[in-house]
Parts: sequence; structure tokens; C-alpha cells
Amino acid sequence: MMISRFSRAFLFIVVLLFFIGSIALLHPPSRSYVDPWTGNLFGEGGVEKDLRVPPPSNPESVHGGVIMPKLGNATAKAELGRATWKLLHTMTLRYPESPTQDQRDALDNYFHIFSRLYPCGECAGEFQKLLRKYPPQTSSRRAAATWLCFVHNQVNARLHKPEFDCANLDATYDCGCGDEPVGASSPPARAENDPMDLENDLSKDGITGVGMIKGG
Ligand SMILES: Cc1cc2nc3c(=O)[nH]c(=O)nc-3n(C[C@H](O)[C@H](O)[C@H](O)COP(=O)(O)OP(=O)(O)OC[C@H]3O[C@@H](n4cnc5c(N)ncnc54)[C@H](O)[C@@H]3O)c2cc1C
Repeated sequence: MMISRFSRAFLFIVVLLFFIGSIALLHPPSRSYVDPWTGNLFGEGGVEKDLRVPPPSNPESVHGGVIMPKLGNATAKAELGRATWKLLHTMTLRYPESPTQDQRDALDNYFHIFSRLYPCGECAGEFQKLLRKYPPQTSSRRAAATWLCFVHNQVNARLHKPEFDCANLDATYDCGCGDEPVGASSPPARAENDPMDLENDLSKDGITGVGMIKGG
């Protein structure tokens, strides 16, 4: 009787351990961990509030209102602006010449999310108005670069700054990123439709002379 009770208890423990072990093996390994210094919970996407899988991006989070507060300090505002314009212009000038739909969506979403999170809240609010009037043009590198130049000029005009000649984009934002083969024996032939060749007035259609940027 005693032996049989022990046997049953032993069997029960073995089955229980097996069950717990199976559950542990079935559960996907968690890549989240708690930073011992800050107590922040980190996951694949950076700091996370909890262990839930983040929800897929939804239109509201892309097209929502401004998140950031007002930035009172004029010097900080100007420095931030210069650095940001540099980033944005360099980005559009390295954007694909023939983007896929996914790449077009990425750029469009980027500008909309940017307009929510730009650290100068009042600037972000004005930029959101511009985005509504002139939605991002994403069909090609040239379209994106010219659109951004145009939009920057709208900001310039509001701030009573001189208009920038968009034909100078190429020279102003040459990031030395090595798009051309280094040490080529002869300079590459100038492609007629090279979107990086901005010597022509890109704000106008080459054939019709009609302005490329129109209110959306
Ligand atoms: C999205 C956004 C919104 C902003 N809104 C405000 C605002 O509401 N109020 C405010 O006070 N400040 C705002 N700023 C900052 C402001 O635009 C300037 O960055 C800041 O005043 C510094 O001006 P800057 O004269 O040094 O030249 P910036 O306008 O910063 O330009 C930097 C350099 O870019 C070149 N450049 C100028 N125009 C163009 C163009 N059209 N295309 C390409 N290159 C060009 C020139 O070489 C120029 O020196 C905003 C900045 C950003 C990025």
C-alpha cells in the first residue's frame, strides 16, 4: 500500500515535470529583457512598455496630430532646423529613382510621422498644414527631392528667408556618399534623364514648362 502510494506520487511528479518542460519548449524564446540599471524593458523595437507584440502600424498613428510641445528657444529651433533640413534633403536625394510601392509608402509615412514627432511642436503644426496642401511626392528621386525643396521654400517664405534655387540641390547636398564608381578612368557619360543632374529647372516640366509641384 505504502509502495503504491509512493509510486503514484512519483509518477505524478514525473508527468508534471514533463508537462512543464513541454510548455517551456513550446513557448518562443523571449528577446525582451529588463535593463538592470534603468529598469526599462527592452525588446526588438527598443524600449517597450510591456511584453506585448506591438500592434501593426495604423493610419491614425501615421496621420495623427502633433505630439511634441512648443520649442521656445529660437537658437535651438534654428540649429534643429538646419540639421533636420540637411537630413531630409540628403534622404530624398538618395531615395530610389524608381521606387516600389512599399518604398513610396515608406517615404510618405516617414514625412507624416515626422510631422507628428518633430521636436519643435509649433513648426510641426505648420508643417502638417503644408503636408495637407502639398502631399509628399514619392514617384521618383527627382519628384521627392524637388517636392521637398519646394516645401522648404514655403517655410522660407513664411519665415521671410530668401527662396532657394532648387537647381542647386545636387551641389548643396553632395554627401560624398559614393554613388559614382570611385577612380573611374573616364567620367561617366551624362545620362539624359539622370535625376541627380539638377542643372535644369526641375520645378518645371522639361517639355511643357508646367510647374511640377501642385497643391494636393
Ligand atoms: C519641417 C520644419 C519646419 C520648420 N518650421 C519652423 C517654424 O515654423 N518657425 C521657425 O522659426 N523655424 C522653423 N524651422 C526652422 C527653419 O526652417 C530654419 O531651419 C531655421 O530658421 C534656420 O534657418 P537657416 O537660415 O539657417 O536655413 P535653413 O532654412 O535651415 O536651411 C539650411 C540650408 O539649407 C539650404 N536651403 C535653404 N532653402 C532650401 C530649399 N528650399 N531646398 C533645399 N535647401 C535649402 C541653404 O543652403 C540653407 O543654408 C523649421 C524647420 C523644419 C525642418
